[in-house]
Amino acid sequence: MTSPIRLAVVGAQGRMGARICALASSDPRFAIIAALDRDSVAPKTPAPQGESAQRASELDVIIDFSNPSGTALAIDLASSTSAALLVGTTGLDAALRERLGALATKVAVLQAANTSLGVAVLRHLVTRAAAMLPGWEIDIVEQHHSRKLDAPSGTALALADAIRAGGAAIDPERIHAVRAGDIIGEHVVQFAGPGETLRLEHVAVNRDLFVHGALRAAAWLRGRPAGAYTIAEALGLHESPAGG
Ligand code: NAD
Repeated sequence: MTSPIRLAVVGAQGRMGARICALASSDPRFAIIAALDRDSVAPKTPAPQGESAQRASELDVIIDFSNPSGTALAIDLASSTSAALLVGTTGLDAALRERLGALATKVAVLQAANTSLGVAVLRHLVTRAAAMLPGWEIDIVEQHHSRKLDAPSGTALALADAIRAGGAAIDPERIHAVRAGDIIGEHVVQFAGPGETLRLEHVAVNRDLFVHGALRAAAWLRGRPAGAYTIAEALGLHESPAGG
């Protein structure tokens, strides 16, 4: 049997991070080496030191579901330990995306606004539909709980990329964000043509679906050479020539 995948989780006390820790702890494929959150990485106790530093250098994969400051920490940790990095945090600015690009020359990096299998398939379908329905009006409607920090969602932006990959255009004002209640995540891409409307929709019914995808991707990332990978690759979907 192969040794367990040694994980660090950044944002470990959050909605996503807590479920990642819970599911990974009960999965023999994984061993959680470090569970980091804001308190454990406060400015006065920044990088792991002494015994924790030694343990951190034994990491295989870092999983980050936090916020941009947590992602910055995860980048530092990946850089100093050479562990692979999976970033699920959304709302990253250009500087952080650039840092992730630079990191990908040193270690395996996968940035995914959405780690669900269904959304990975949706992106492919959206690219195909956009290519097959030239001239149709396209809208994206996304809904999330009212505590979500970024709008539009990273998934909505990825769906906009999927539309462009199909050769169609989408204006930023045609990406509509609704923030209400406890909605986990819902995305509709609507194609409206003369006399007919096509809607492609994904609904998340619980957060564990993202966790399953993230853990599957983490297992896939272990031992990969340096590079920037996509969630579609990690989930075993074939990339279409039009984009992933
Ligand atoms: P959350 O607010 O419940 O959790 C975020 C956690 O990160 C908190 O515990 C917070 O204390 C911690 N944190 C903040 N700054 C930190 C730092 N500097 N260092 C370490 N920890 C820090 O949020 P959530 O709902 O768990 O979502 C987290 C992120 O994941 C968001 O960006 C969200 O959009 C994204 N998300 C992605 C997917 C996906 O499939 N990729 C799915 C759901 C959520």
